[in-house]
Amino acid sequence: MLQIKDFTTEYRTNPIGIDAKEPRFSWKLSSDENDVYQKSYRITVTEAGAMGENDNIKVWDSGIIDEETSVAVRYEGAELKPCREYAVKLEVTDNKGNSAFGDGLFAMGLMTYDNMKASFITHGFEDELEAPAIFSKKFKTENDIKNARLYASALGIYEFTVNGLEGSDVKFAPGWTAYQDNLQYQTYDITDLIKSGAENDISFTVGNGWYKGILGFFNQGNHYGKRTGIIAQIVISYCDGSEQLVCTDETWDTYTGEIRYSEIYHGEIIDKTFECKEIKKAALLEQDKAVLIAQQDEPCRITERIAGREFIISPKGEYIIDFGQNLTGVVEFSLKGKRGQKIILKHAETLDKDGNFYTVNLRTAKCTDTFICSGGEDFFRPKFTYHGFRYISIEGMDRQDINQENFTACVIHTDLKKTGDFICNDEMVNRLIKNIDWGLRDNFLDIPTDCPQRDERLGYTGDTQIFLSTASVIRDVRLFYEKYLRDLRYEQKIGEGGIPTTVPNILGQQGGIAIWHDAGTIIPWTLYENYGDVRILEESFDSMVSCVEYSKKLAGNEGLIKTGQQLGDWVSMDVPRGAMLNYTGDVWNLQLTEKIGATDPYYIANVYYVNSISLTARAARVLGKEKEALEYEKLYEETLAKIRDEYITKNGRVISDTQTGNVMALFFDIAEEKDREVCRERLIANLKLHKNHLTTGFAGTPFLCPTLSEVGEHELAGAVFMQKDCPSWLYHVKMGATTMWELWDGVNPDGSFNGFEMNSFNHYSYGSIGNWVYHYLLGITALEPGYKKIRIEPRMIMGLPDMEGFIDTVYGTVRVVAKCLDRKYSFDITIPANTSAVIELPEREAEEKGSGTYHYEYETESSFVPERYNMDTVFGELLDNPAGKAMFEQYAPDLMSNDMFLMFAMQRPIVEVLGMLPGEAAGLVKMVMKTCNDNPVRDNA
Ligand code: BGC
Repeated sequence: MLQIKDFTTEYRTNPIGIDAKEPRFSWKLSSDENDVYQKSYRITVTEAGAMGENDNIKVWDSGIIDEETSVAVRYEGAELKPCREYAVKLEVTDNKGNSAFGDGLFAMGLMTYDNMKASFITHGFEDELEAPAIFSKKFKTENDIKNARLYASALGIYEFTVNGLEGSDVKFAPGWTAYQDNLQYQTYDITDLIKSGAENDISFTVGNGWYKGILGFFNQGNHYGKRTGIIAQIVISYCDGSEQLVCTDETWDTYTGEIRYSEIYHGEIIDKTFECKEIKKAALLEQDKAVLIAQQDEPCRITERIAGREFIISPKGEYIIDFGQNLTGVVEFSLKGKRGQKIILKHAETLDKDGNFYTVNLRTAKCTDTFICSGGEDFFRPKFTYHGFRYISIEGMDRQDINQENFTACVIHTDLKKTGDFICNDEMVNRLIKNIDWGLRDNFLDIPTDCPQRDERLGYTGDTQIFLSTASVIRDVRLFYEKYLRDLRYEQKIGEGGIPTTVPNILGQQGGIAIWHDAGTIIPWTLYENYGDVRILEESFDSMVSCVEYSKKLAGNEGLIKTGQQLGDWVSMDVPRGAMLNYTGDVWNLQLTEKIGATDPYYIANVYYVNSISLTARAARVLGKEKEALEYEKLYEETLAKIRDEYITKNGRVISDTQTGNVMALFFDIAEEKDREVCRERLIANLKLHKNHLTTGFAGTPFLCPTLSEVGEHELAGAVFMQKDCPSWLYHVKMGATTMWELWDGVNPDGSFNGFEMNSFNHYSYGSIGNWVYHYLLGITALEPGYKKIRIEPRMIMGLPDMEGFIDTVYGTVRVVAKCLDRKYSFDITIPANTSAVIELPEREAEEKGSGTYHYEYETESSFVPERYNMDTVFGELLDNPAGKAMFEQYAPDLMSNDMFLMFAMQRPIVEVLGMLPGEAAGLVKMVMKTCNDNPVRDNA
């Protein structure tokens, strides 16, 4: 049977308030047969008439289209009308002669700002008003309401109530955008909240938020304006076809309420004893309505509630609750306290080494909420602030009144659907996978922030492009990034082609910093590859071109970037900590530059530059822009040749002979074919020097394991991935991390903190390893945009013989279950309908398969269960094994009588000892290991 699943308009199910003139329809097919393709589709759209079902008008009939396309099919009918509802019907046939039917609804938004009849208003108080202002209005309705919609936005962040009831579960509306350019309005269906034929009241509370609130490094507010305000229009449609509008204007009342203070960084003060004595009329606010656009992406919501897990009294005597998870949001609780009792909750990501509350890494962000009790039963939950925390400290309550289970952490972020997961036999890896997802959840709060806790929380372009290939696997981030890219394009225009390090940008211009700047090409291209929607490239093509042109200008006549600010291999580990010289354009400065690493920042900049040129050329090809394609293909070849001349020696060595230097040379094809072997060897040698630990930062880390897997060193990639001491991903897990950390060495092995003022425990960038886990380990990759054609090549590594996972692609779910147990491989693979896959299993020829579920099982000599004697085993243990000792004595008597060697080797891991032995002796050690594994001595023997 053929079925249609997940029918969406503009990637949402039955959305209301969309402004897109040509909405995109997408669906998935499911079938119980194999090898199923879509043969044809037909879409019809009808406009629901004002008077109900009978006067429906057909506005589009696509006719029968004999195509496989089921993603982002554009509406091509009559012009859609503002605020109208439309019904969509879909009919699909497959190659087996089956048909399926689907349907959906969508309602248009205001479409242009002219249709917002309301005015922007502000409160009647002074600019410096600390308490969020409340805007309210009473209005009467007639009988027989058909429906009621609210279109609203704010300068600030708002929540609203209708007749005293919470109007919506949306948090932090209208979201953070480049407000000078665009301000999102939200559409709500409030039919159920409005009383027919009665008096109603609506009120909005507006916090400073990102618009007026404190943001950035200098505790500075008013980035976009001095006064908060709102705009709102209620459209009540009656059954007789008539309409009533209720709009913001000077007749609205403004006052303040129980929230006395609220700042995103610093927290909120809620005073339940507050009585409002002063009501002032609203005033019109000068604000251009042309900036209004509909919010198209998923809103922020409370997506999970976590009760306090443990109550702790710290050595300093602090009352602390541990929620067991570093998260982003606020704490809610109810209590009946004494009137005027003041309860202070502070938030922290971690306790220090001694178990005391640790807030140094929050820098100037106070992250403190204060609650003043009314004397009756009170409920507290801050509205316009958020914190990044795992722990709270409580002041103002007696020990016996605190029950941790009464305190609930509300997890808040953009409500993005989960689309990928991975689980395996190793609990530390499983925790890492969870941490990667938490890193996303904790930081995708309307924009992709760097961190949710300290006085920063900004939309860093570099961080987010690094993580995107992981993010787009584990969550549906299409609309989230469409919004982000809109602001990126605006900020880029302001920066004359240069992309700032943060979007929206409150830090001033800093275009041209590689990695951050190149978000302009990488984000659209990654989204296109992952979701297969060409519109992303259409919308971003000019921006991709400006991104390249900006770098080209920096490169000047010589054609290579050699000046200007760079952040290099940000937060890498290959430079000793301490002060260093930093070249910032024209002068060398003494600065704390250990964050930028050892790799030549201009080498990194040029590699990113040439990669951006390549992506732009490829986008031009996809869009059929022949002229631009040729132009950028040529520029790519020229620039590549120049980079090779400048940075690769005649014998194939990268002049920055670091892990990052070699990884970039290999991954981005900077090294010519003849030089690849040298780069590969240098990379392996460097890893060996670090006992198979990474030293990479932002530039190298995302590509380290993928490069190793690509150059035939998948096992080594696995060894680096499975490391458990610093620096490694699992080191964080070993140290108790529940999210991704900003620094590899955020906490030292003795539990003390890295001395940096910059030390967040909730930075998602290093979650970029997810890309390798899903694409190279589980082995699911897109051969065609959107995974229309898939490659499935699970590749186990030592220690992970048992793994499974899925990616919910735009066509459906690709699932892989892979095991290698007791010398037997088994694989279960699911390929969604309307796609095909090349399946390449270990020790097998690749084969091409259509949709369906396939099972494979076969014998093998391979084993991925770590052996008793492995590379991490201490060398001395081989000599403790009688069979091993006998072999060494027989074949390497000299070595056994070499005291210097034995003194060095006995307590060192085999991997290290191998590094210092000549090839022959190393071969013997491997043979001894095999013999010992065949004749193991048990630990307790
Ligand atoms: C952020 C980083 C960011 C960097 C660049 C930091 O403070 O947290 O993740 O990319 O600054 O300037």
